[in-house]
Amino acid sequence: RKWVYLFSEGNAKMRDLLGGKGAGVAEMTNAGLPVPPGFTITTEACNGYYEAAKQFPAGVWEQVQMALQIIEQQTGKGFGKKENPLLVSVRSGAKFSMPGMMDTVLNLGINDETVQGLVELTGNERFAYDAYRRFIQMFSKIVLDTEPRDFEAVLDRYKEQVRVSSDAELSASDLKKIVDEFKQIAELQSGEPFPVDVFQQLHKAIEAVFSSWNNKRAIDYRNFNKIPHDLGTGVNVQMMVFGNMGDDSGTGVAFTRNPSTGEKVLYGEYLLNAQGEDVVAGIRTPSKISRLQADLPAVYQEFQEIANRLEQHYHDMQDLEFTVEKGKLYMLQTRSAKRNASAAVKVAVDMVGEGLISQEEALKRVDPVQVYQLLLPRFNDEEKWKARQTGRLLAKGLNASPGAAYGKAIFNADRAETLGKAGIPVVLVRPETSPDDVHGMLVAKGVLTARGGATSHAAVVARGLGLPCVAGCEDIRVSEEEHLFRVVGSNVVIKEGDDISIDGATGEVFAGIIKAVDADFDKELDLKTLLSWADQHRKLGVLANADNPRDAQRSVIFGAEGIGLCRTEHMFMEQERLPVVQKMILAQSKEERQAALDQLLAFQRDDFLNIFEAMINPKTGEGYPVVIRLIDMPLHEFLPSYEELLVETTRLEIQGGHDAELKEKQKLLETVRAMREVNPMLGLRGCRLSLLFPEINLMQTRAIFEAASLLTARGKKLHPKIMIPLIGHVNELKEVRRQLQSVADDIIPQNRIDYQFGTMIEVPRATVIADQLARETDFFSFGTNDLTQMTFGYSRDDAEGKFLLKYVEGLEIPGLKNKVKILPVNPFQTLDREGVGRLVAIAVEMGRRARPDIELGLCGEHGGDPDTITFCHEIGLHYVSCSPFRVPIARLAAAQAAL
Ligand code: ADP
Ligand code: MG
Ligand code: MG
Repeated sequence: RKWVYLFSEGNAKMRDLLGGKGAGVAEMTNAGLPVPPGFTITTEACNGYYEAAKQFPAGVWEQVQMALQIIEQQTGKGFGKKENPLLVSVRSGAKFSMPGMMDTVLNLGINDETVQGLVELTGNERFAYDAYRRFIQMFSKIVLDTEPRDFEAVLDRYKEQVRVSSDAELSASDLKKIVDEFKQIAELQSGEPFPVDVFQQLHKAIEAVFSSWNNKRAIDYRNFNKIPHDLGTGVNVQMMVFGNMGDDSGTGVAFTRNPSTGEKVLYGEYLLNAQGEDVVAGIRTPSKISRLQADLPAVYQEFQEIANRLEQHYHDMQDLEFTVEKGKLYMLQTRSAKRNASAAVKVAVDMVGEGLISQEEALKRVDPVQVYQLLLPRFNDEEKWKARQTGRLLAKGLNASPGAAYGKAIFNADRAETLGKAGIPVVLVRPETSPDDVHGMLVAKGVLTARGGATSHAAVVARGLGLPCVAGCEDIRVSEEEHLFRVVGSNVVIKEGDDISIDGATGEVFAGIIKAVDADFDKELDLKTLLSWADQHRKLGVLANADNPRDAQRSVIFGAEGIGLCRTEHMFMEQERLPVVQKMILAQSKEERQAALDQLLAFQRDDFLNIFEAMINPKTGEGYPVVIRLIDMPLHEFLPSYEELLVETTRLEIQGGHDAELKEKQKLLETVRAMREVNPMLGLRGCRLSLLFPEINLMQTRAIFEAASLLTARGKKLHPKIMIPLIGHVNELKEVRRQLQSVADDIIPQNRIDYQFGTMIEVPRATVIADQLARETDFFSFGTNDLTQMTFGYSRDDAEGKFLLKYVEGLEIPGLKNKVKILPVNPFQTLDREGVGRLVAIAVEMGRRARPDIELGLCGEHGGDPDTITFCHEIGLHYVSCSPFRVPIARLAAAQAAL
């Protein structure tokens, strides 16, 4: 088996076998870019190593030695030789980049002899011993697993002795002494002499890199990012080039464009006279890459050219690592750059303009979730940068739910609730959250937890609420008793009431306030361009769920093509109307009831008039389709609760003297008691209500048609669609429909209004008799909230807190190491294809067979979920309908589904 590939033997397509880093350096090598020579040990070798109980598979070591000989020939250097010694780096690199999660050893091949060779070769004793001490330090930490702080302490002591502030100022003789001390520490801690045999060094370093695939950090990272655990890492062995050979040398990292704005300028940092890890280690403050132009102009220009070439080559923005040795530039890494939402959209749109990618490709490049992020409040980048510069960045956790929030740190849900309700912005800080904290989360601006992953309670609930959340922030220690958190590794303490700011998109936690700004969709020109391309490619229509003119207007701005669900019960809930609704429900006589209904008719006619008007396209005078759902809620929800009334009547009884009031309350109590249901979600609601009390439906239908007639008389063309909820039997549909038709025939003289009657499909039984229903109706709209609830048998209002989150996060089972996951995702967020989706597909097929032109849509919360949208596209629905804010996401997701 071939376990080892020279860089010249690989290419960008071999990421599976060589890992991303190996494939990247191979591609650059073959493109003729300056890459130090080397070779890659395959990911298969890594997996083989684990299969063989941590032994190199047969042939690996032999092939490594052979490849090393070729590198020696290419470079004219000798590994372990005193003359012109070859030093190498041993670098990890898996298929998907896992920045900083695995290990890399630099300067390998150095010992007391070769260091002399290095001195002779370079005439630079300081450099040689600096490389040596770095090697011992890094090798000890990564391979020998020693305590890094002991080495730091020695360095600090020397710096103090000679009164310098940075490592770069230590002299050769200091470094020599440091090397000796380092060797002693290594020996003391590992129990054996520091290895002088360079092949032994190499063997151990390769093993350490293999092992780092399964260190805790790496495993956690893979869990979070859903990367499989059986991919293995490649190992890259590469000739060292030295950025620490003086002020014509250096090292840095750079993006080909700005990863937070997308602007097309090199963006990054570098340090002169330094080696790789120094830039990120924060020992010295790096310079902005633009300064390289002044420091080393020729190098800067070459780097700029290479950056452009790599973008042209990969058709994407790149993240680069480089080192300059005595004025010569070397490329050490290239990969597709991570970017935030703004940058993702801008880069995608710009690259179409530059002819680098097609519109289709641009649409694929942006994650619909990023579109959502763009519409959330966020921190100004400049403000954030300032906060970082002034040391206010406290910690970093998981970016669990996007959005920016600032407010007072509050350590308990009750206190958060009190303050939040008083209008004070709070960020709820907890070790982790549980259902007991939800009331605090509901009023908080954001949530910060010290423990828990991406599917922890805090993360899941926050995402559901659209609340910014940083979870699993292990850099802080929360003390509930003391009402404070401490920042690990510093003496910063944030007490209750102190201002903090959190960025849920990046996981950053700041001290003090960083003002968040609301997004302005109209100013997001690149996003609008991208979405206009999406509209050209998508097959699915995107409608919005809106119950009032304001939401209707907003949804048009976001690009909705109509209203897919207008719920009518909110209209009944408004303050001035509720008493009328109650009168209607409690009416003792037909006349009394009719009087209340007439009042409601006037209200509703106005409601529908306003919504229809908001949905008229000003250019054509034609209305977008509006789907109005007739009343669905059980009536008792409009009345005071039974418990409340019981308490009140009892109070009145005890107090005495309020006989009239008491009598009335008792009567109400009796009515409410009679209406009480054990399980109202499965009770007298939806079409069942209409069949028992047809007056409400008749009133609503009349209001709809009267409003439509008024606008038609004014020359508008309307398309009202009336939707009947909760149908489970065809006879229900037949009867309700007959009633509605009688109203239509009564009001609309020559059918000048283009109206439709349709039904929701949300009871499991309806899905399997869809052919019968299709013969009675113009359209189906899948109400996937109820359908999920009834198909799983999970009460939506109770399930999340009681067991559903645990189902998703995994149950802790005594005696088992791993949590047992019952559900892959929350089925109320992403449609369960296997079960609920299967029912939807059956209904689509049966409905179409019975009535080929039936219109099919989906209007549950799922309508804004990208995965569900893909499913809707696949089964050939005509549209999805979602909340106004999710309309842009749905437009992009629908286009992606069609590409
Ligand atoms: P990571 O995946 O953590 O970025 P790398 O393997 O990319 O680890 O190594 C980190 C840094 O070490 C590089 O960015 C580079 O600065 C330095 N480095 C790695 N290999 C070499 C080399 N052959 N010569 C010089 N510097 C190197
Ligand atoms: Mg790197
Ligand atoms: Mg429903």
